Amino acid sequence: MASISLRRVVKRYGHGAKANQVIHGVDAEIRDGEFVVIVGPSGCGKSTLLRMVAGLEEISEGEIAIGARVVNDVEPAERDIAMVFQNYALYPHMTNFENMAYGLKIAKVPKDEIRRRVDKAAKILELTHLLERKPRELSGGQRQRVAMGRAIVRQPQVFLFDEPLSNLDAKLRAQTRIEIQKLHRDLGITSLFVTHDQVEAMTLAQRMIVMNAGHVEQFGTPEEVYHRPASTFVASFIGSPPMNLLRSVPGGQAGRILGIRPEHIDVVAQGGWEMQVQTVELLGAERLVYGTVGGDALIVRIEEGKPSPQPGGTLRVLPRPDRLHWFHAETGQRA
Ligand code: ADP
Repeated sequence: MASISLRRVVKRYGHGAKANQVIHGVDAEIRDGEFVVIVGPSGCGKSTLLRMVAGLEEISEGEIAIGARVVNDVEPAERDIAMVFQNYALYPHMTNFENMAYGLKIAKVPKDEIRRRVDKAAKILELTHLLERKPRELSGGQRQRVAMGRAIVRQPQVFLFDEPLSNLDAKLRAQTRIEIQKLHRDLGITSLFVTHDQVEAMTLAQRMIVMNAGHVEQFGTPEEVYHRPASTFVASFIGSPPMNLLRSVPGGQAGRILGIRPEHIDVVAQGGWEMQVQTVELLGAERLVYGTVGGDALIVRIEEGKPSPQPGGTLRVLPRPDRLHWFHAETGQRA
């Protein structure tokens, strides 16, 4: 196993005047055995960063080390990593056993050793009874498990996951998430996992790197990122619905943006703010009330059983004082 160090990593596509810089000096230290998720909107540079760790993209500036070894000039096959993609690309004419064994066969690992490793991985992934079938005889989730098995048998120092769950339906995605967590608990292999889905990031990560436009906005545990977002970007990207960001509330501070999550606002009989209600969304155990306060948009979460406000009406709401976040209006950074 190994740590992964990113030191002032820069990526530019193209050359000279036409060069397009997409990664702007990323620093991150992923600990040995840690499960880190890189999350951010489409185009922010997540896959590029992962592909640089894998050796599939060149590094324009800076340094990447796996363990003590700087790998800038090390071929992908020599980096001791295994990658799991969204598109699991199994060979259709091979059995699942052969698919999992293929990389080892190419690497000339002895037959009985291959058998031992594939059987062990299949047992962990509950694929033992499916090994003699072809991929087309499996469900999408089972195929993704074969793809993970193919990575496990290599016994790499590092797992790299590039949106591996995005082809699965919601239920299967949730199940596979649990399997990946279990896998990490059992094997303890350092893992870097890319997703654009903040729920996936929150549930899987030991720590998460929130990226925006080629920069790291925050690197922290899910709790830190949720409870102490480093910027308005993180505040509005993590959490669903996002944190409210208010510029002109009564009692606000000059030059500051007030952040308050929808779940940290109470409905009150008097005092507080007067909210103009526009729509109410019923989500089963709770309601989301959408409206405005002053000139700002506001979302409030109300638990089941409380009276529902009417669209077009007003609602008195009070943010919990210990749940307020302040951000510099100019930079968006936490104040
Ligand atoms: P993400 O994985 O977060 O969606 P990517 O890492 O794929 O983002 O892309 C980051 C940026 O780099 C995007 O603006 C994308 O258009 C650009 N990009 C990615 N690959 C290439 C390439 N091969 N050539 C030029 N630009 C690229």
